[in-house]
Amino acid sequence: MVRVKGVLEDSIAQELGIVPGTELLSVNGRELADFLDWEFLAADDELVVDARLPSGEHVLYEIERPEGEALGVELEPPTIRRCANRCEFCFIEGLPKGLRKSLYVRDDDYRLSFAYGNFATLSNLKDRDFARILEYRLSPLYVSVHATPWEARKVLLNNPRVPNIVDQLARLAAGGIQFHCQMVIVPGLNDGEVLAQSLSDLWSFGDAVLSVAVVPVGLTQFSHLYTGAPMDRGTASALLDAVDRWAQRALSERGTPWVFGSDELYLLAERALPSAEYYGGFPQIENGVGAVASLRLRVRGRLAMLPRLDGVRIGVVTGVSMAPLMPELLELLASATGATFDLLVAENSLFGPTTTTAGLLVGADIRRALHGRADLDLALIPAECINDNGLFLDDETFVSVREALPMPVYPSYDFADALSQETERLLSGAAA
Ligand code: SF4
Repeated sequence: MVRVKGVLEDSIAQELGIVPGTELLSVNGRELADFLDWEFLAADDELVVDARLPSGEHVLYEIERPEGEALGVELEPPTIRRCANRCEFCFIEGLPKGLRKSLYVRDDDYRLSFAYGNFATLSNLKDRDFARILEYRLSPLYVSVHATPWEARKVLLNNPRVPNIVDQLARLAAGGIQFHCQMVIVPGLNDGEVLAQSLSDLWSFGDAVLSVAVVPVGLTQFSHLYTGAPMDRGTASALLDAVDRWAQRALSERGTPWVFGSDELYLLAERALPSAEYYGGFPQIENGVGAVASLRLRVRGRLAMLPRLDGVRIGVVTGVSMAPLMPELLELLASATGATFDLLVAENSLFGPTTTTAGLLVGADIRRALHGRADLDLALIPAECINDNGLFLDDETFVSVREALPMPVYPSYDFADALSQETERLLSGAAA
């Protein structure tokens, strides 16, 4: 059963009398277990939908849907499938106590992997899940592989019952499913030989493995389970060497680098990041692979569209890891707009100094970075550190942070989004 959360105005569902709270029980005789069943089974043009209204009334809707017209039903969010592992590098194990409950949910859900690109280990898949993935062709899936050698993977996931990922991928690949894989590297556990074996195994899947990201372990001062070695410059460099060897082979045999180091790996190794072209369609940009190259590309591509902001002073808040890359971008922005840009590097007060990503800065960090800066006409902060509900990770709202500061504050993904014509209008007084 799936429950209706909302019904679109003037939609088929509204016409039928489906209301929020209606339980959708089956479609064409097949029971609905979750949003995936609804999405795939209700894709037919001729439907018999068995439903129970909030009043308890049972209704059988016979629907002939005009081609391409949506039914107009929004479902309640699914119950997330929980993770059965206990990785020592788990980000959730590295969260401080006292944050909002939803942040502590350890999801490991192949449905969200397909629907939203969340990484899943597949370690909780049952036979019926394999059957659904194959029937609905849930492809590509985003898979946390970490290591293909079985014993190494059991250690990494801290779960002796974890299935053999090579067998799992083979079963799905035989049914036409493709994967984007990630390897979070814990020095001493899955670098060196384990990484070499893993990349070799993944390569042998041919087109089924679309891309592989090699990501350094990310720890906070609260990562109490972690026993591995720290990720230092030498280890990051050795990882990039391994990545490069496979990428060279992949480029010559398949025309794509196939395996990518994450941006953070390059920063740790103090190596220059590849250009945007290297990343092709940026298959793992959400995983921090090519995000900097993409930002550079977007900034350069939009310079000509930026407004003139002569005389305006703009503060740009970022995290420690992005700081060395920013001056080059800010110089471009300054010459395109005439504005002066002040780079403000914020340390992470919630997770500690080892957490340097701009997207994990919290409300208190933003306040501190911009406190008393009445000389700034405007401030830009990383949009990634605010969620869809306008909250930072420390539960501060963007609105309360903005109201506490002496200048207008804009969340920004690529500067150009905030430095719009509207900004120019808003600032015309300040610049005069
Ligand atoms: S698979 Fe590991 S890293 Fe992911 S949620 Fe589970 S314990 Fe955390």
